[in-house]
Amino acid sequence: MYSFSGLSTTLPDKYGCWHKFYCRYVLKLPSSPGLPLIFGKACHSVIETAIKAKDAEIIPMLVDVAAGSNDLDDEKETLNKCVCANAVHAAIEDGGEVEEYFQFPLDDSPFAPSLRGFIDLNQKNGKAMIITDWKTNRSTYHPTDTYQLGLYAAAMKKKHGLPVIGRLAFLRFNQVIEHEYTETEINEALEWARDTAYECEARKQRVEMGQDPSEVFPKSPGNCVWCDYKNFCLAPKTEIPEAILTHEDAKKVAHGIMLTKEKIKLHEDRLKKYITTQGSVETPQIKAEVNTSEYFRFDLKARRAVVEKMQRQKLDIGSILKIGSDAQKDLINKHGWKEKDFLDLGATIGKTARLSISKI
Ligand code: SF4
Repeated sequence: MYSFSGLSTTLPDKYGCWHKFYCRYVLKLPSSPGLPLIFGKACHSVIETAIKAKDAEIIPMLVDVAAGSNDLDDEKETLNKCVCANAVHAAIEDGGEVEEYFQFPLDDSPFAPSLRGFIDLNQKNGKAMIITDWKTNRSTYHPTDTYQLGLYAAAMKKKHGLPVIGRLAFLRFNQVIEHEYTETEINEALEWARDTAYECEARKQRVEMGQDPSEVFPKSPGNCVWCDYKNFCLAPKTEIPEAILTHEDAKKVAHGIMLTKEKIKLHEDRLKKYITTQGSVETPQIKAEVNTSEYFRFDLKARRAVVEKMQRQKLDIGSILKIGSDAQKDLINKHGWKEKDFLDLGATIGKTARLSISKI
């Protein structure tokens, strides 16, 4: 099953390269989404909720929540500007199908790859289907510059049999660029998707048959700055020094720890998947197995009931319940408490030294 973004990952110098496809879809490496992706998702979630609620007045509240939960406080003004674009207000007014899912095979053969996707907004005006994709890009382009809306138009044409108008709503520019898709343009998009999907399948098979992945899925450095896998892909393959004698050694160790953690996570995920289906593995030195453990989960109602029971039994609630970092954050962020409030109530400040290595 392929999506437009998956297929376009293979396009060198535009969205990625074959190696990016390999990292994402073959190795299934965890990615670290950058600011553009996080910002785009936050915009989409605000717009989607406001259209579904048919209420533009909830936008400021949604922006607050989206900015807070995505660490986008510095981008809040831009986020607000984007989600208040004219096209968004028109969509809230006019309504339509939000995040409509589609899926169809790319040809009639029994093992044909399928294409799937979500259409941000789908509207019908009686004579045509109008599909809109919200864009937070820093530059505009025409819908026919990529095959994205051509493929979405193919899905809508199949479903409704009506002409399709594709709209790219560039939120940062408060500008909509639209295009009515011809049969030829839809077929050209489908042909590209089909050929690319078959090429992906063929390359995956070549690796399964033992060919060197670096030859089958070559790296094409060029447009790496926005690539989710740049830390993995472009990292120098340095050994972790045995001792830290200089600042350079320390940098190499910090980098090595980060890469090793990422690799361990990847290998753990793969081993867990294998053991779950094939059973535990054992050598004279180790045994690896997947153990299931159970734990209690308390929703709000259950938490309240626990506190009430403790009160009925006159238990010392303070000595049983811990005020952990999550509770402290909630009190500060949601209820306006200050650190001074904790100190005034008798909390003391403890100190712990923890090694923290994060991606910049
Ligand atoms: S960092 Fe560059 S070369 Fe590596 S996968 Fe990403 S786009 Fe390709």
